Amino acid sequence: VTGQKVWNSAAQLCDWGFLLVRTDPDAPKHRGITFVLVDMSTPGIEVRPLVQINGSAHFNEVFLDEVRIPVANVIGEINEGWTVARTVLANEAAFIGGSAKTLASTNLRTLAEAAGLTDDANVRQELADLITRERVVAWMGEQIQQAVRRGEMPPMDPGLIKLMTADNRVRSGNMAMQITGAGGMAGDSPETTWSQVELMMRFAVSIGGGTNEVLRNNVGERALGLPREPGYDKTQPWKDIPR
Ligand SMILES: Cc1cc2nc3c(=O)[nH]c(=O)nc-3n(C[C@H](O)[C@H](O)[C@H](O)COP(=O)(O)OP(=O)(O)OC[C@H]3O[C@@H](n4cnc5c(N)ncnc54)[C@H](O)[C@@H]3O)c2cc1C
Repeated sequence: VTGQKVWNSAAQLCDWGFLLVRTDPDAPKHRGITFVLVDMSTPGIEVRPLVQINGSAHFNEVFLDEVRIPVANVIGEINEGWTVARTVLANEAAFIGGSAKTLASTNLRTLAEAAGLTDDANVRQELADLITRERVVAWMGEQIQQAVRRGEMPPMDPGLIKLMTADNRVRSGNMAMQITGAGGMAGDSPETTWSQVELMMRFAVSIGGGTNEVLRNNVGERALGLPREPGYDKTQPWKDIPR
């Protein structure tokens, strides 16, 4: 395999990765892809961490140069990797959507108390709104987990829980800034550090694991049965699609 991929979360720490590799350029775009597991210590793999605005290196750029991967590492059928990828993407959406361990509203409430804003009508209203949304997400996550434990399909499109979590992150980031004000960006206490990260990272969930726009398309088409978006000819060979 030869190629390059940016945005790989935690690749600098991982022993294994998975790749979607183009194995048949004559097949249409969503065919001719193979899903394969790769041992990250295989010769020819270079991982370059990318340092973000908050100083951490969450993602990497991964370069692959003539990397040899055993056929035994293929998951599913050769050229049918998109089917596997869709399952992985749905699982990722449920995982990202349901993975918040600390509720942002708890930290925001602490910030509001420290700033003496617990009687501010706007802060109270927005906090109550966020707490309600966090509870809804938690219940949705619980429903998905219970279904998976029973070996059933999730009772809702997992994209929905990720969309709601993405919206919550934007709200909590904006609220952190609203409460701490400009001083919050300069402080280095644990509370202001949390609010800085919450503000700077507020769009991460709206992009990672599929953007809000793409997830809304999926929900519209798969869950609601709406007509597909107009797009390119799905029978056109991948190699002939203009790039
Ligand atoms: C925190 C984070 C972690 C990530 N981790 C990983 C990782 O571990 N592995 C990995 O492979 N990637 C990872 N990514 C990358 C992420 O999956 C992609 O950035 C994301 O799916 C968007 O793809 P793109 O960057 O190619 O943007 P594009 O697809 O080019 O999108 C650009 C813009 O066009 C819009 N758009 C695109 N298509 C449509 C459409 N059909 N209809 C309407 N609007 C559309 C998008 O919504 C977006 O606003 C991560 C990203 C983030 C932010």
